[in-house]
Amino acid sequence: MMARKTTPKKVAKKAAKKPARKPAKLPTAQKAGKAKSDAPKFAKVKPWTPAEIEQAFMHFQQAHPAPRGELLHVNAFTLLVAVVLSAQATDVGVNKATPALFAAADTPQKMAALGEDKIRDYVKTIGLFRGKAKNVAALSRILVEQHGGEVPHDREALEALPGVGRKTANVVLNIAFGEPTMAVDTHIFRIGNRTGLAPGKNPFEVEMNLVKVIPMKFMLHAHHWLILHGRYICVARGPKCGRCMINAQCHWPEKGKPEFPLKERIATSASVMRKEI
Ligand code: SF4
Repeated sequence: MMARKTTPKKVAKKAAKKPARKPAKLPTAQKAGKAKSDAPKFAKVKPWTPAEIEQAFMHFQQAHPAPRGELLHVNAFTLLVAVVLSAQATDVGVNKATPALFAAADTPQKMAALGEDKIRDYVKTIGLFRGKAKNVAALSRILVEQHGGEVPHDREALEALPGVGRKTANVVLNIAFGEPTMAVDTHIFRIGNRTGLAPGKNPFEVEMNLVKVIPMKFMLHAHHWLILHGRYICVARGPKCGRCMINAQCHWPEKGKPEFPLKERIATSASVMRKEI
């Protein structure tokens, strides 16, 4: 018997008659052991009370009284360069490339003299290195020509430099100049929304809300505490709620129960934040 020929027209007709298949039901975040996507759900989390905020930051302070950034640098200029290089890259990756770069050029004058091509050779292991090398060369020239070879202690002047946005300016103002700024990265954005500490639709909103609710006495180190907490404990997928020292204050409805006494959770965070384990 001859097989019946199926023309493209027939296939299209058949497909049109067939009812659309329902999309497969995905497991819930809790069942899958994963965090759900950030914004919509997190936006409904109840705000923290001032007492809860005070308590949480007391715990951060106890765990790590003087946190520092993880990017290697030797002065304000090399800090600025390291932060520019760290966009969409890990601090670990940047730290592998920068010691040799900074040994060759640790001032805007030396970096400008080194030039874009040589800078590119030093940073070629970092993502987006071509554009970053170009920005580092250009910002070094601008620092020499317009700022006397110094990193300006001024947000507007910093943000006018190539490759420098609000977050980079906040990091430099905080670490190099001791300003109580809040540089919102992916970790802080997640924590602000997930826990209800400072919800916001974008990093700027989260930054403004954090600055509003965190007492000034904690602001100098708050940025580092929250980054380290997000990097090692309140991670994007499968946050370690059982070991979290701010578990009692966190308002995430899906948070897990504490698995250890508070003292042990603070000690764990202290070790993780200081990279002792
Ligand atoms: S309990 Fe801690 S780790 Fe869990 S979601 Fe809240 S802040 Fe993050």
